[in-house]
Amino acid sequence: MIKIQENISLKPYNTFGVNVKAKYFTSVVLEKEILEILQSKRFGSMNKLILGGGSNILFTKNYDGLVIHYVEKGIRLVEENEKYVIIESSAGEIWNDVVSYCVENKYYGIENLSLIPGRVGAAPIQNIGAYGVEIKDVFESLEGINLESGEKKIYKKNECKFDYRDSIFKKELKGKFIITKVKLKLKKEKQFNLNYRSLNDYLGKANKEKLTIRRVRETVNKIRMSKLPDPQRFGNAGSFFKNPEVSEERFIELKKNFEEIVFFKLDGKKYKIPAGFLIEKCGYKGKRIGDVATYNRQALVIINMGRATGEQIKNFSQEIQKAVFDKFGIELTPEVNII
Ligand SMILES: Cc1cc2nc3c(=O)[nH]c(=O)nc-3n(C[C@H](O)[C@H](O)[C@H](O)COP(=O)(O)OP(=O)(O)OC[C@H]3O[C@@H](n4cnc5c(N)ncnc54)[C@H](O)[C@@H]3O)c2cc1C
Repeated sequence: MIKIQENISLKPYNTFGVNVKAKYFTSVVLEKEILEILQSKRFGSMNKLILGGGSNILFTKNYDGLVIHYVEKGIRLVEENEKYVIIESSAGEIWNDVVSYCVENKYYGIENLSLIPGRVGAAPIQNIGAYGVEIKDVFESLEGINLESGEKKIYKKNECKFDYRDSIFKKELKGKFIITKVKLKLKKEKQFNLNYRSLNDYLGKANKEKLTIRRVRETVNKIRMSKLPDPQRFGNAGSFFKNPEVSEERFIELKKNFEEIVFFKLDGKKYKIPAGFLIEKCGYKGKRIGDVATYNRQALVIINMGRATGEQIKNFSQEIQKAVFDKFGIELTPEVNII
């Protein structure tokens, strides 16, 4: 029998540390409990929000519906040969614990995604990425339940429409599907991706024969801890905005006016501009209004200095969007899910 609580504070369940309430709240540890909820007279047709680690969400008001905190755990090896393994993780597993499991077993592919907060179920939603790797690079399939029809469905990689911090679950299926299991395909042969600049600065010259997966993970952890604020100290959700992509014509024009512009050249004559650079150039690095600020080491991270409300954080983010648009003519899109 599932236990549903009423008027629960979501403060411990979101890394921004925003204090809003959920009208109803339940922690789900078994997949079958989802079907129980969907079939229930009282909750079946009610608005529902699936919550993992709450590290990519900004609550701006109380949630007038049922919050389902999905916490089912478990990692299983489902296929293995001499070249690769396929592992299946329950969606409630902590993402960083899955990375740790792979590193300990020398399964290569997700070590660059070390220390990303949150749970496995949310990882495919925005196709999590860091240090030149995205989950789509190792993704095999996922399983879940359609919240409208109650039907179970498997999505293979090509059906997920993965893109930069994006997937079908952030678009057509937003809020309509609960992910319960994720399968990843990892290499057994040693292979690292060290192309990303800051990782390359540390490990580019390392002896590749001797380099271990554990050292790569530890290096990624070290870089992340030096750059990103710990949500336990300052509430945040990592990068607040996506890095915008612009056409070549637009880029040439920008370069004329802002010679020092930082960029990454993409395929198809497109350029990615770090949003943090644009925000910094608008004078917002370390800027504080009340209890909301941008992090002084990375302007792309908005932080809650104490008692900021979700509404205040949202207003601050909109002020940044306006400043960047006025100066560069570029629209910043939030990476964080604003509720
Ligand atoms: C300090 C910090 C650093 C970060 N660094 C990175 C980074 O390097 N790269 C990166 O990509 N992200 C990063 N993030 C963002 C965040 O950690 C990831 O997006 C993570 O995958 C979110 O997981 P979560 O479980 O916390 O999701 P939540 O915040 O709980 O949910 C996010 C969204 O997914 C939905 N959702 C959650 N679980 C499920 C499920 N099982 N089924 C269906 N929908 C679901 C929610 O409804 C919501 O819309 C960072 C965040 C922080 C705080």
